[in-house]
This record gives sequence, structure tokens and C-alpha cells, in this order.
Amino acid sequence: MKLHTLFAAVLFATMGTAFAQNATSQDGVKIGGNSLLSKFAPVGALENQAATQYAQTMQQAEKQHALGPDNHPQVLRLRAIANKLIPYSLKWNERAKQWKWEINLLGSKQINAYCMPGGKIAFYSGILDTLKLTDDEVAIVMGHEIAHALREHGAERAVKSSAANLFVKGVEIFAGAKGYDPNIAGSIAGGAANMTMLKFSRDNETEADIVGLDIAARAGYDPRAGVALWQKMGMVNKGAPPQWLSTHPAGQNRIAEIRRHLPEVMPLYAKAKALSLNGIAPYRTNVKGIDPVTYP
Ligand SMILES: [Zn+2]
Repeated sequence: MKLHTLFAAVLFATMGTAFAQNATSQDGVKIGGNSLLSKFAPVGALENQAATQYAQTMQQAEKQHALGPDNHPQVLRLRAIANKLIPYSLKWNERAKQWKWEINLLGSKQINAYCMPGGKIAFYSGILDTLKLTDDEVAIVMGHEIAHALREHGAERAVKSSAANLFVKGVEIFAGAKGYDPNIAGSIAGGAANMTMLKFSRDNETEADIVGLDIAARAGYDPRAGVALWQKMGMVNKGAPPQWLSTHPAGQNRIAEIRRHLPEVMPLYAKAKALSLNGIAPYRTNVKGIDPVTYP
């Protein structure tokens, strides 16, 4: 790596942390604003690109009779859960109020789910069936995926991957102060082409986990389902193509991280359910071999 490209990468990486905005809420999880990196990305262009790609995917799926029809019980279920989560998502991103949210079910054995920039959500039937997800567990997965979109992790990733490129081109983004060079919008948006298959950084994964917990808890879904969900992931049959697992490594540290944030999100859940914290029964999932999850 050339020295100046290294410099650019370090500079960008540092700015993302140093200029993070203040936390956006009083209760719930404490996290700074979106990475400044995403402010250099053409977020609107990425959202448009995502909308186009999403529409194409759904059209193709429909041709192959792999798109869940509007009256399918699982489609109704996914949309009902999304409708509860979305109102609690909006405070995390100003733009999200304008998003045209879409929630679809794809008939595929893959264990996968995503939310593209702009609120375009897809669940594969494989993740629902193979993992026998409860509503709480669906909400945890969906909250996690929505959080990636709200926190503009896709935009951040696009800028990181083009940061060196930007520097070499001598882009005056710092002098310009207003944002990004429209000339590179195309190349960054182009990077969105396979955005659902790409991996996020470990930090982004942790952030999506805890923001997702906050959203799910406020919507009345049990955050402790996150612990059971990741235990299920760990047990998953190797015969199924584990797409989501390849981009979301399961592990004890992910479960530990979720447990660490329960003190922040369990009061939100209790409030949503109009229960006292001590009056909440342990979370029980629907498969053998996973112990009830207790808190406190
Ligand atoms: Zn993720």
C-alpha cells in the first residue's frame, strides 16, 4: 500500500470515530451518531441503487414463483413485526421517515435476511423454517438488519473501500465541506451492486446488534431472544446453506455482548409490556437444548 493511500485510510478511519455525534436517546442503548464516513457517501444514490436492485430481485423471484404472496401467513407475520419495529427505528436516522419501507419473503432454503439502504427488507424462508424463529427472534434479526440500514453501514463501507481512491484523485472533500464529489457517486453506488452479500466490519455488527435490541425492546419484543437466536445459529444444520452465518459469525462473544446490554434494553421491554422488570418470566424458545434466558 502506498504511503498516501495508507494515510487516507487512517484519516478516514479516525474521523469516523472522533467526530461521532452525541447519543440520540436518554434511555436505551448509548451510541454515537452515524459514522462521519457515511456523510461522504452519496447516501441518496445508494438508496436509489438499492431500491432498483431490490425491485429486480423481487421481480425475478416472482417469475420463479419464489416471492411470498401478500396473503401468505409468513408475509403477513413479517410485515406485522416490521410495522411494530419501524416507528422505533426513525429516531436513529432522519432520512428513514421518508423511506418507502418494503418487506418481502423469498422462497429459498438459504438462512438469510437483509435490509438494504432505504428500508428494503427481505427474509428467506430458510431462516424462518430452519431456525423455527419465534416472533421475538424474527424481531431480533429484523432489528439487526434495519439497524445496519439506519446506521448507514453500507454507505460507510462504500466510502471506506473508495477512500484511497478518493485521496489519489485529489478530491477536495475537506475544502468542500458540503459532502461528496458527485463524480464518484457512480462508482460508490456501483459498489452497491451486491450489497446484500457483503460483510460488515465487526464494529458494525456489534452496533447493529445493540441498536437492533433497542428497537425490538421498545416495540415489545424480548431482547433476551437474541441470546437464544445465536444459540440456535450455533446449532444450525450444516446441510442448509448458511448465507447469513457467513456474514454474521455466531459466537460466544456475540452472545456475551447481547447479555452485556440487557440492563439497558430490558427496562424498555418491561415498559412496552407494562410489566415490572422482576415480573417478567424467563425467555423460552421453541427448541430443545436451549435453556430459558433469565434477566435480571
Ligand atoms: Zn449484520
